Amino acid sequence: AGMKRGIVIKDDWPGYSLDLFTYPEHYHDDIESVYIPHGVIMNRTERLAHYIMNDFQDDNIMVLCVLKGGYKFCADLVEFIKILGRNSNKYLETRVEFIRLKSYLVGSNDQSTEDLHIIGCQDLSFLRGKSVLIVEAIVDTGKTMKALLKHVETFEPKMVKVAGLLVKRVPNMAESLTDYVGFEIPNRFVVGYALDYNEYFRDLNHICVISRTGKMKYKI
Ligand code: 5GP
Repeated sequence: AGMKRGIVIKDDWPGYSLDLFTYPEHYHDDIESVYIPHGVIMNRTERLAHYIMNDFQDDNIMVLCVLKGGYKFCADLVEFIKILGRNSNKYLETRVEFIRLKSYLVGSNDQSTEDLHIIGCQDLSFLRGKSVLIVEAIVDTGKTMKALLKHVETFEPKMVKVAGLLVKRVPNMAESLTDYVGFEIPNRFVVGYALDYNEYFRDLNHICVISRTGKMKYKI
C-alpha cells in the first residue's frame, strides 16, 4: 500500500503549527499550517528514487519535468537517483527535459471545452524506444496527466512511468495514473516547494495550506 498510495494524509490532519518551523517571514499571515515539512518531502523523495532505480534497472532515464510546479521535486528526485547510483555503483544515465502545459478555453462561454497545449519541448521524438519518467508535483483530477501521457505515447517510448509528489484524494481519483506517489492528500489547496498560488509561495520550502488572508492577498 505504501508504494501505490504513498504516505496517506488523513482528512482531519491539521498540519503542524507554524511556530514549530522556519519559513519566509513575508508569508506569516498567508499560510495556515505546515502541512508537509520540507525534511519529510526529502525523505519520501529518496524512497521514491529507490523504487525508480529498481524499476528502471540498467535503462537510461528520460526525465520529463512538468513545469513550473515540478521543478523542485524533479531536481531533488534526480539528485537522489544520482546519489543512490554513486553509493551502489549502479549508475543510471539521466536526461532531463522540461515541458509546460497550458489549458485554454475553446469555444463560446456556454459551450466551452478545455484544450491542453504542450509548450516548451515540443519535439519529443528522442523518446522513441526509451524509458521515460514523467515528474509532476501534483495530480488532482488527472486531466493534465492523461493529456500528457497520450502525447508522450505518440512518440512510442519503451516504457512510461509517472512520479507525482502529491496525489489528491478526489472523487473518481486517477490513482492508477501515478506509479510513484509521494503523498496522498485531502482535497485542499496546497502551496510551497515550487507549488504556487498566482506565482506566489514557490519560495516556501514546506508544503503548506494557504490561509484565507493569503487567498485574498494574492488573488488576481
Ligand atoms: P489536474 O489536471 O490533475 O486536475 O490538475 C493538475 C494541475 O493543477 C497541477 O499541475 C497544478 O498546476 C494544479 N493544481 C491542482 N491542485 C493544486 C494545489 O492544491 N495547489 C497548487 N498550487 N496547484 C494545484
